[in-house]
Amino acid sequence: MTDCVFCRIAAGEMEPRIILETESVLAFHDLNPVAPQHALVIPRRHIATLDDTAPEDREVLGDVMLAGAEVARKLELEKKGYRTVMNCGHGGGQSVYHIHLHVLGGRNLSWPPG
Ligand code: 5GP
Ligand code: ZN
Repeated sequence: MTDCVFCRIAAGEMEPRIILETESVLAFHDLNPVAPQHALVIPRRHIATLDDTAPEDREVLGDVMLAGAEVARKLELEKKGYRTVMNCGHGGGQSVYHIHLHVLGGRNLSWPPG
């Protein structure tokens, strides 16, 4: 059994609150939201960090971004605006080493982030 929590979610071993599923990606609500709406989009296939991606991952990375926009529309965030973030590595704030796009909204988000 994998010890990657997002691979386990992708395998259906855990039951997060799913927002959308496609052949290549899965989106669900974050367990510890930092905004009124906080979703995660993951590729079903394990990729540890953005730094581990290569040109052959172009399609799945595109699928992740497009799913992020679809999730934002499903959560009705598109009118007011929202933020997508992919943290990379320890210094970037990444804590789960299976790439994921954060979709954050429902409040005004400051810039620059902390
Ligand atoms: P990171 O810090 O790696 O950019 O983001 C990881 C995110 O995954 C965090 O926001 C954390 O709350 C979320 N998370 C970690 N474990 C789980 C889980 O088992 N289920 C869900 N739904 N979210 C999780
Ligand atoms: Zn994984």
